[in-house]
Amino acid sequence: MKYVYDFAEGNKDLKDLLGGKGANLAEMTNLGLPVPAGFTITTQACQRYLTDGEQVEGLGAEIDEHLAALEGAMGRRLGDPADPLLVSVRSGAKFSMPGMMETVLNVGLNDESVAGLSRQAGDNDRFAWDSYRRLIQMFGKTVCDVPGEEFEDALHEAKTAKGVTDDVQLDAEDLRALVTAYKKIFSKHTGQEFPQDPREQMDLAVAAVFRSWNAERAVVYRRQERIPADLGTAVNVVAMVFGNLGPDSGTGVAFTRDPATGESGIYGDYLQNAQGEDVVAGIRNTIGLADLEGLDKKSYDELLQIMATLEGHYRDLCDIEFTIERGKLWMLQTRVGKRTAAAAFTIASQLVEEGMIDLDEALDRVTGAQLAQLMFPRFDLSGDPRPLTSGIGASPGAASGEVAFTSARAVELADEGKQVILVRRETNPDDLPGMIAAQGILTSRGGKTSHAAVVARGMGKTCVCGADALDVGRDQFTVDGQVVREGDVVSIDGTTGRVYPGSVPVRPSEVVQYFEGSLAPSTSRLVGAVDQLMTHADSLRALRVRTNADNAEDSARARRFGAQGIGLCRTEHMFLGDRRSLVERLILARTDADRDAALDALKPLQRADFLAIFREMDGLPVTIRLIDPPLHEFLPSLEELAVKVAVEHERGQTDEHDEQLLAAVRRMHEQNPMLGLRGVRLGLVIPGLFGMQVRAIAEAAVELARDGGTPHPEIMVPLVGAVQELETVRVEAARIIDEVVGDSGVDVLIGTMIEVPRAALTAGQIASAASFFSFGTNDLTQMAWGFSRDDVEGAFFWRYFELGIFGISPFESLDRDGVGRLVRIAAEEGRAARPDLKLGVCGEHGGDPDSVHFFHEVGLDYVSCSPFRVPIARLEAGRAAVESTGSDHR
Ligand code: PEP
Ligand code: MG
Repeated sequence: MKYVYDFAEGNKDLKDLLGGKGANLAEMTNLGLPVPAGFTITTQACQRYLTDGEQVEGLGAEIDEHLAALEGAMGRRLGDPADPLLVSVRSGAKFSMPGMMETVLNVGLNDESVAGLSRQAGDNDRFAWDSYRRLIQMFGKTVCDVPGEEFEDALHEAKTAKGVTDDVQLDAEDLRALVTAYKKIFSKHTGQEFPQDPREQMDLAVAAVFRSWNAERAVVYRRQERIPADLGTAVNVVAMVFGNLGPDSGTGVAFTRDPATGESGIYGDYLQNAQGEDVVAGIRNTIGLADLEGLDKKSYDELLQIMATLEGHYRDLCDIEFTIERGKLWMLQTRVGKRTAAAAFTIASQLVEEGMIDLDEALDRVTGAQLAQLMFPRFDLSGDPRPLTSGIGASPGAASGEVAFTSARAVELADEGKQVILVRRETNPDDLPGMIAAQGILTSRGGKTSHAAVVARGMGKTCVCGADALDVGRDQFTVDGQVVREGDVVSIDGTTGRVYPGSVPVRPSEVVQYFEGSLAPSTSRLVGAVDQLMTHADSLRALRVRTNADNAEDSARARRFGAQGIGLCRTEHMFLGDRRSLVERLILARTDADRDAALDALKPLQRADFLAIFREMDGLPVTIRLIDPPLHEFLPSLEELAVKVAVEHERGQTDEHDEQLLAAVRRMHEQNPMLGLRGVRLGLVIPGLFGMQVRAIAEAAVELARDGGTPHPEIMVPLVGAVQELETVRVEAARIIDEVVGDSGVDVLIGTMIEVPRAALTAGQIASAASFFSFGTNDLTQMAWGFSRDDVEGAFFWRYFELGIFGISPFESLDRDGVGRLVRIAAEEGRAARPDLKLGVCGEHGGDPDSVHFFHEVGLDYVSCSPFRVPIARLEAGRAAVESTGSDHR
């Protein structure tokens, strides 16, 4: 096996083997760009090292060979006392893991070569000794686990002794003394002298980079970012170039377009006379990249030309790290750059205009998750508010409110009509009431998969977590000496993770206004880009996109957002509000006559609801589901009612209605209501209930048809597990429909949800009684896993994330292997039994980007989701179509 590749041997497609940095250094080398010479040790060598322990057979000999070539190319030997070659040893995994793994610079310096380095630098002793002390510090900390603070303390002492505050005020003699102090620290902790053999330094540094793959922070980061644990990191050994050799040297970063907005232009920062670590440490202020032109026009012009070359080559935004050593430009890194959601859309569309990519590829470069981000309201930052601090943006949105430090206080404030931000060190299931009451959640600990983050995302609440500069107490938090007390207002941005003092005004999303039809595509580059890519997605997609809506207003909005009908109208929502008393009457009915009277009273209300929805969706299919949840949900709580009746008894003021109600609640109480009397079971047990709904639907449809409309009603039966259940309902429903529609020309379909595993497994039989299936993936997930959908997210899923059992909640993104298999079986067997069977999905997964791709693969006809997710599903359905045509753009 080959473990070491010269830069000239690799290319950008070898990221698995060479890591992102190594693959791109190779690509730049082959493009003829000025990259310092070097080689990459593969991720496979790292995997071997980590599994087999210290010795990787053959690696040493390969390194010898490549080092000799590197020395040849540079005309210097590693650590040569007279004229040393120095190298950096840098980590570089397949996926970028910023700051998570190790790098050692200046490898090859020792007590002798430090003099050689000084000569190379024009007798610059100060520079040479500073480089040497940096090596001991980095090497000690990274390779030998010497506590970094000890080096920092020694540096601090050296400055204090001299009465200066800045590193650059230490001269060569000071730094030479510091090297002596550093060496003492090194041997105190390791029991050994600092290694003087350059090759030994290099081998130890390489091994340390391998081991840093399993450093705790890297492990945690991988878990959060869902990066597989067994990939390993590559190691790049690169000839050192120095940006700190004087005013004609420096280091910088550059972007080929603005990664925040996508606009073209010159973006980046430059720091004169400095090394990369100084930029990161923020010791001095950088200047804008454009100002480099005035300092070093030759390097600046060359850099701009290289940026154009890279962008043309990668056909995308690139970010770049470079160093200028005495007027000579060197490229140290490039990669396709990270960008905001807005920039992703704008750049994809610009690249189409510039002829660099086609529309299919542009669509492939944006995601539904990015579109979702663009649909959240944002803070209006035009007043330039200064953030208090920032944490991890864990659940997007913009929320302002009064700070509460306990769940109970959050509930109290919310009850007073206040907007609340719940601030906790971390949350646990006891905090749920406060999380529900709050507009946003802010924690000082925990990452993207902490309890707070998981629950907030599940609720669609804004959340910033892991703001570790916050010191959260019982009734106040402090951050950088500022105190924020209970009741003070803060604002949190769940996208950027920033926390602001006071209330920041909120700006509605431009993109939503465009979908609403109130902004034209020409309003801005971003809106134009979204319009262009949505139009393309719509032209390609095989999946239709419907919405889940149960009132006219949501139906109208969803239609503006591009919905092609309703996939789920939950009629139980229409039983709430001021209709509760009618439902109560139905439940309490003792005689057929009482019950019929209650149903008769409900019917006109239902018919009016349906008519309003049909009107908004005129010409498009509307799937109305017969009532699903347990009826006792419409009655008062058992505890409250029992107390009320007991008090009435005590006072001798019994109330017959309350007594009856209590008896009914007791009678209907179930241990497991989710597995109890709901869905089709309810329809079979309460005579006339489904019949009333069917009649109301058919009558509403006929009325619209008489008014010149074209309704397409579809009646859906929930929670079916056996064809006999469906058949019983279907026969009765068909009779009523015939009776109502007569010769009006209205066609009413009858179908079923597939949300009980048994239904999926007997889909061939069920299809005989159904014109369509709609997968209820919420219940199907609940019943396939045996997870109570209303409890688990707050109760224990956080632990499952921590353990890596889940990458994402199966209620959020479809579990393809288990629940997905049931969907596949039902789709195939249903269609085999009835080729014209219509197939859709109406569970939450219908609007989840990854799940949409799965439904496309399975060949469903449509997905249905909440109105705000309709555009996301349209985009992802288009992307799924591009993906399945198999065109490989890269
Ligand atoms: C489902 O179970 O997926 C579904 C859509 O029905 P509900 O969420 O109303 O149970
Ligand atoms: Mg359901």
